[in-house]
Amino acid sequence: MKQEKNRILLSPPHMGGNEQKYIAEAFVNNWIAPFGPNIKKFEKDLEYYLKENSNVVGLNSGTAAIHLGLILLGVKSGDEVLCQSLTFSASANPIVYLGAKPIFIDSEKETWNMCPITLENAILDRIEKGNKPKVIIAVHLYGMPFKVQEIKKISEKYNIPILEDSAEALGSTYNNQKCGTFGDISVLSFNGNKIITTSGGGALIAKSKEIKDRAVFLATQAKDNAPHYQHSEIGYNYRMSNICAGIGIGQMEVLDSHILARREINAFYKTFFENNKNICLLKEPNDNFYSNHWLSIILLESYEKREILRNAFEEANIETRPVWKPMHLQPIFKEYPYYGSKNSENLFERGLCLPSGSNLTDNDKTRISKVISSFVN
Ligand SMILES: *Cc1c(COP(=O)(O)O)cnc(C)c1O
Repeated sequence: MKQEKNRILLSPPHMGGNEQKYIAEAFVNNWIAPFGPNIKKFEKDLEYYLKENSNVVGLNSGTAAIHLGLILLGVKSGDEVLCQSLTFSASANPIVYLGAKPIFIDSEKETWNMCPITLENAILDRIEKGNKPKVIIAVHLYGMPFKVQEIKKISEKYNIPILEDSAEALGSTYNNQKCGTFGDISVLSFNGNKIITTSGGGALIAKSKEIKDRAVFLATQAKDNAPHYQHSEIGYNYRMSNICAGIGIGQMEVLDSHILARREINAFYKTFFENNKNICLLKEPNDNFYSNHWLSIILLESYEKREILRNAFEEANIETRPVWKPMHLQPIFKEYPYYGSKNSENLFERGLCLPSGSNLTDNDKTRISKVISSFVN
């Protein structure tokens, strides 16, 4: 097969057009700092978008937001934190930054997210072992909402707060409520490959102004109120840059249209796999779930078939990627406890993420169609 010139990427940045205007304003007014009006405006835009009394703090990454979130929820060295195993490592790394211990939980088969039954079993077992977990980190993977009602019920029953990793799910909803508003603390990411980007960035969403203020305090080196620099607590340098926030403001103007584009791409893939017994596309279990379809993912019959298709895409210069490798299988996390069977392992072996960018062209779609059609036939 001849090599097509330009590579089709999984999820490239997609600018709306006004981003540079907000960056230019920052230059004109010399707000070249992790401080300034763009940050305030970007936070307000997100608060308006998310509703539900969200208090948004712009940070320099989603990972920083998870780290601060765990601190705000009181996680300390030696504590246990429950975390979805099927996710990106950034969901779990901050647990280890704090000297706490991750306890990994398997996924269920409908949304591919944290299995509520396994979660409850794990909580009971950890309590019996004498160490009640401090936090539940649940992830809306690939933009698909996790089973919010079931997970929240367990969180309330055992009084363990939820850190909602909504890094991939801005614009997704569950029962018409936006993802990013379900956690005791919630987190967004604006990395280059996410649904919107600030080139790099993230946000923490708090339930009150007090918690927001505390997050800003910790994210700006925990400076006490004094004319000199004085610190009674360890701080972090995690605030978002005013330049990056300018990109974010521009991206908010096109967020909804980009989500519609991603959903349209998902519908495009559906035409290929709807009536295919051997390949299934991850889809919303029912009308309570609305995914931004950040990525469209398929599950094939076997690892071997997955690899054949992945290589065929590669041959055509089209980027695809296996589903996240579960954390309990990662060399860095091997020693930590895992609850579940083999769901997440199965998804890892047989799952493939397909190009899903909101700027995918008709020509790109034609090239993708050719690869899928020749594989399916
Ligand atoms: C991207 C991502 C993060 C981390 O966000 P960064 O902004 O890249 O630090 C965390 N969790 C998940 C599920 C992600 O996809």
